[in-house]
Amino acid sequence: MANTFEVKNPATGEVLQTITRHSETEINDKLQAGYDAFHTWKKTNAHYRAKLLTKWSALIQDNKQSIAEVMTKENGKPLTESLGEVDYATSYIDWYAEEAKRIYGRTIPTHADGKRLLVTRHPIGLVAAITPWNFPAAMMTRKAAPALAAGCTFIAKPAEDTPLTTIRLIELAHEAGFPTDVVQHVNGRGSVVGKLFTSSSLVRKVTFTGSTPVGKQLIQQSANTVKNVTMELGGHAPLIIAEDADIDLAVEQTIASKFRNAGQTCICANRILVHSSIRDIFADKLTEKVKELKVGNGLEDNVQIGPVINKDGYTKIANQVDDAINKGATLLTGGTYDIDNEKETYFVHPTILNNVSDDMDIMHYETFGPVAPITTFTSLDEAIQVANDTPFGLAAYFFTNNYKIGTYLSENLDYGIIGWNDGATSAAHAPFGGMKESGLGREGGSEGIEPYLETKYISIGNFLE
Ligand code: ADP
Repeated sequence: MANTFEVKNPATGEVLQTITRHSETEINDKLQAGYDAFHTWKKTNAHYRAKLLTKWSALIQDNKQSIAEVMTKENGKPLTESLGEVDYATSYIDWYAEEAKRIYGRTIPTHADGKRLLVTRHPIGLVAAITPWNFPAAMMTRKAAPALAAGCTFIAKPAEDTPLTTIRLIELAHEAGFPTDVVQHVNGRGSVVGKLFTSSSLVRKVTFTGSTPVGKQLIQQSANTVKNVTMELGGHAPLIIAEDADIDLAVEQTIASKFRNAGQTCICANRILVHSSIRDIFADKLTEKVKELKVGNGLEDNVQIGPVINKDGYTKIANQVDDAINKGATLLTGGTYDIDNEKETYFVHPTILNNVSDDMDIMHYETFGPVAPITTFTSLDEAIQVANDTPFGLAAYFFTNNYKIGTYLSENLDYGIIGWNDGATSAAHAPFGGMKESGLGREGGSEGIEPYLETKYISIGNFLE
């Protein structure tokens, strides 16, 4: 088994770097170092940890341009999106630098004389994170920042497609003053590192962003040591456009949701459900705008759609498009690809499919690509039934200016994140996470530090009264 892997630019096929995988012994040594470091790190005071986080954030911002360029080179997303992701990544660090100071306990009124009942909060221990390639900076910081703020030590395994951004951010964490054993990374295959992380009794928490099948496996593997887990898994977001919706707004926000990062986000709209009375006008307007999206190397000016990450990603997308067309969907734009199998570069032109029906794969599986499938509904309950007919429950969107329709939809959609007239919902100060098979736990907001804390209850007796 080769102990190295190449990180390639998905837009050009250029090898950016060859990385050596850590051996099993090296990974176990790092886990031991992280575990040992926890015993001193947990005693640091919250304001000190907040200062280091603030410094880390500032150093990342000082290096924003070069980090964004690395991200675009390894992930393929347009440079403007990478610059935006650097801001998004530091927003988590900034938020949890503040939250570190608000890890409150409480006192409980007693049931007996001479007692005092206290509840205190403690860092959970060594946290092991496995992160995906689609947001190489932000998916790491939204795990690392609350973990470090809480007083945990942290070790990350980035995706093999995109480890360079993570490695750079961790270097900057050390430059900011975090001890090297407090924040670490390992390079390795997901399945190998996943087993080491989940089976180690030194790791108290596993936090993962990635696909649902891998998430399920990690939950099972974590059972033996009863590890705390946070899982941000797949999505299959419905986007519902009600009869009264502002169509121009719906078009603009559908594009923001669907085509960011070439549709490779777990919260992007995956099924567009339009009221039948406005389907044609919506489809026309969407097609007109989507045709203008520029595809290319994300480092070039004005490119809005970069390559998809790799051949597997492209094959899945192309199969879904073929399946839909074979079953009667109409292609409004796209459905074409620029592929170089030798260089391993895969560009998918933004695609809109009309007349999509429930027997098509695209209505049931996450596409992870720039393909917008349009179907219609006539009653709200029908839209809700279709929207909820999935094991996933991450994000859902709808467009209406009618408060009764909006309230009904937000109360009946079984999703952890709801965008109402809003296709860009994510924020460091808001809880992100899914219901059903989309995950366990929340990241971001005041909720996002909870998974890194243990609760201790102390009952003290024999007080003077
Ligand atoms: P995606 O489809 O987005 O690549 P994955 O779930 O395959 O999602 O990958 C997300 C992260 O999970 C990556 O860091 C990857 O290396 C890691 N990974 C993949 N397979 C496993 C596994 N069996 N156990 C643990 N981690 C894994």
